[in-house]
Amino acid sequence: MRKVWSLLNLILPEQCPICNRPSDNLKTSPLCSCCWDLIRAGGAKRRCLRCGIALDTTYDTSCLECIKDPPFYEKVYVFGDYDGHLREAIHYMKFHGRKNLSKVLGNLLGMLDIPDVDAIIPVPLGRRRLVQRGFNQSYLLARRLSVISSVPVLDDLLLKKTETPPQSLLSRQERLRNQRGSFSLNPNYQKIPRRVALVDDVVTTTATVNECARVLKKAGVKEVYVIALARAISV
Ligand SMILES: [Zn+2]
Ligand SMILES: [Zn+2]
Repeated sequence: MRKVWSLLNLILPEQCPICNRPSDNLKTSPLCSCCWDLIRAGGAKRRCLRCGIALDTTYDTSCLECIKDPPFYEKVYVFGDYDGHLREAIHYMKFHGRKNLSKVLGNLLGMLDIPDVDAIIPVPLGRRRLVQRGFNQSYLLARRLSVISSVPVLDDLLLKKTETPPQSLLSRQERLRNQRGSFSLNPNYQKIPRRVALVDDVVTTTATVNECARVLKKAGVKEVYVIALARAISV
């Protein structure tokens, strides 16, 4: 029976999760080429050079938060805003089990002009959420970026220690406090990479990636670049 299904999958095109039409392009599958074309790069005209948040003013290069309290990471690189078709595609991957979207979405990460790194590290998911979802979307994206860039993925260097409540329900101060101590370094690692790309699907608040960067830097990593598909428009 399984053979029949895999054969059918070869013949019948996948259904686009966004518009439900059959996917018409192997390169963009499972998305149809129409929905793929509507995924826009860029988004906000001006972003904070450090954390990637959209800036209102035309003359600033950094947001106030990054000036007041500089983050541990060097810079956030995002493909676009968490909006429109990009948001929908990420949503279907994460919450509707469409794992195969990670290939085409990972290709978007491959389009970013990021510095050379020695390792790719996915933001770890807590055990409970991993069991619920069955996969870590950041790991799937990191793996795709690894195929494109030939840089290895180290998915067990950074460990998530405790389950934290969703960030969106908390204030900025609460978020920072909430993340403190929630990640740790795998003590079995002897060789710590020098420059790393920390991969996440969406950067909503930077509290999570900043805490990951803090732990990595404390362990001896010199440069941490955050690579994500999208930056939330407002936090
Ligand atoms: Zn579509
Ligand atoms: Zn900033």
